[in-house]
Amino acid sequence: MTVPAASAPDTRFATKQVQAAYVAGTPQNTAVPPLYQSAAYEFGSLAEARDLFALRRAGNIYSRNASPTQQLLEERVTALEGGVSAIAVASGQAAVAVTILALAGRGGHVVAADRLYGGTVDLLQDTLDDFGITVTFVDQDDPEAWRAAANERTRLFFAESVANPLAQVLDIRTVADIAHAAGVPLVIDSTVGTPYLVRPGEHGADFVVHSATKFLSGHGTSLGGVAVDLGSFDFGADPARWPQFTATHDRFGPQSLWERFGQGFAFGALVKAKYVHDLGPSLSPFNAHQILQGIETLDLRVSRQSASAQAIAEALAAHPAVSAVHHPGLAGNPWHDLAARYLPRGIPSVFSIDLVSAGDEALDQERVERFVDGLRIVRLVANIGDARSLVSHPASMTHSHLNAAQRAAAGIGATTVRLSIGIEDPADILADLEQALALATAATATAAAPEFAAV
Ligand SMILES: *Cc1c(COP(=O)(O)O)cnc(C)c1O
Repeated sequence: MTVPAASAPDTRFATKQVQAAYVAGTPQNTAVPPLYQSAAYEFGSLAEARDLFALRRAGNIYSRNASPTQQLLEERVTALEGGVSAIAVASGQAAVAVTILALAGRGGHVVAADRLYGGTVDLLQDTLDDFGITVTFVDQDDPEAWRAAANERTRLFFAESVANPLAQVLDIRTVADIAHAAGVPLVIDSTVGTPYLVRPGEHGADFVVHSATKFLSGHGTSLGGVAVDLGSFDFGADPARWPQFTATHDRFGPQSLWERFGQGFAFGALVKAKYVHDLGPSLSPFNAHQILQGIETLDLRVSRQSASAQAIAEALAAHPAVSAVHHPGLAGNPWHDLAARYLPRGIPSVFSIDLVSAGDEALDQERVERFVDGLRIVRLVANIGDARSLVSHPASMTHSHLNAAQRAAAGIGATTVRLSIGIEDPADILADLEQALALATAATATAAAPEFAAV
């Protein structure tokens, strides 16, 4: 070991202000993982740089490819999902995009659930279509529909473990078996499910993607996304179908990624070395650090949020101003049995309620506005999984580009309101919802009085 102070050349002020006292590669005894907010990394020698660029040895080069803070996040989420490797990127949207690009390559086909995050629908229907990747959306509860949609161009099945706003629970095992029979992996977006409540790999899924912006962070400060390779899918079993892994490519040297990195790692290598490198959706070290901070309390938050949401759902189901509560923890919900099987630790805290309709579009709109604008603890925010309780109105917000018939097909009505229950005291959240419900129905009761009188 060289002693830096002794070996450092004597320098002038402007050199000192840039270089004094810092030696790359010196670890400090920080108890908390440090934030390596550095765009690039220093090489010990030109020979080392040559080896790193040739991928002959692993190490830090430039933060578009990877940073140590990001790598720790990748390893931590891999551990939580019971996976083999992971890549972290700038957003959940980026995680979904690079995963589909890596698997469906050029001209592939995706079989996707019909209940997906709106950004994923746009990506599949529009942007990936521009790239020649096509999609068939299927009723996610119908195994025959999944089976019938697969063809020889299909490269993956895609679904969410728990969808939103209506909290449909996927039968992961059934869909995984059908995907495998078709020779393709199942990718699960488990953003709402969280690795604390459900680990899709235990039920046959091969890849998991997360918007780390949501429950993994919990603090709502940072965008991020993670894609985890669970190590179960063998691209080598049908090499002709997966040339991106099994064939050699000039830019990656004389070996294929499959030969070089193998099962559980080749996917991440392709995503990082090609898609993140070329397209650039890299995670900032600062956001990686924030997400790691959030993950430290994941189970505490999610178990509290799930218990609070269950209690609130039960109370609202008995409320006269609420016509439906879409929470699979309630008996009679169509996904109640699947929830018991896949979510034994609790149901995610994102669910929806329908306010009782006034039977008139304008009155319903007024009712929803009174309710949403009357909330004082539950905040009007287009996000989920935050420590704060949040509300949104799908027909005005996330699903506003759909017409009434498309919304009805998705199970979303004019008075459907989505809730994401936070970590506040559940009694305060419920009291807030109840006072806002009283405001909502008081307003329309007056307006609707003559109509009721006429019936
Ligand atoms: C938010 C979300 C995404 C997209 O994640 P961003 O971090 O916002 O890019 C993807 N899937 C689901 C289920 C989401 O809720």
